[in-house]
Amino acid sequence: MSEYDISSIKKKLKKSLDKNRYKHTKGVAEAARYLAMRYGIDHEKAYTAGLLHDCAKCFSDAEKLSLCDEFGIVLSKEELDNPALIHAKLGPYIAARDYGIDDEEIADAIRYHTTGKKGMNILEKIIYVADYIEPGREPLPRIDAIRKAAFTVIDKAIAMISEDSLKYLEKKGGVIDPNTKEVFEFYNKETSGNGEENGEA
Ligand code: FE
Ligand code: FE
Repeated sequence: MSEYDISSIKKKLKKSLDKNRYKHTKGVAEAARYLAMRYGIDHEKAYTAGLLHDCAKCFSDAEKLSLCDEFGIVLSKEELDNPALIHAKLGPYIAARDYGIDDEEIADAIRYHTTGKKGMNILEKIIYVADYIEPGREPLPRIDAIRKAAFTVIDKAIAMISEDSLKYLEKKGGVIDPNTKEVFEFYNKETSGNGEENGEA
């Protein structure tokens, strides 16, 4: 028996999320579980974090803003300009209030899943990467190489994902969160040059 009540979390998510988001959510949880096995951390915890990573996604922008107000969450300029980012910061509060998961490590993995940050811990890395490589994702450039890197040198996968996110945002003219750029520079430096020895144990 898991320490997390997976079936009740899934039941609630299914009601809160639209069909595609729920499918994506299950894919992220599944990818997170196997990455956790690869990197030797609690796979039930990674699965639960994967399930909850987008738990605040299906509120309207107005609802998200009023929930942030309610919880006293201060939003950055980037988040106000790009409300799609808000679900990450709001997620931990919804995970605790609506899903009974009040765990600092899961909270941080949810919080940083969209932009990443430099110096992520292994659970944060896993959720960031699982969000991108989950099996149901639309075909993305070099996804096969990114999936392979995820299971070999996860920092390399993070460098590739953040690089592709920057390229995509630049092309689309979207708002570039300074974190994404910082994440690319940090993990690119980590993994270029001396190669495999930067792999996570
Ligand atoms: Fe998300
Ligand atoms: Fe997601």
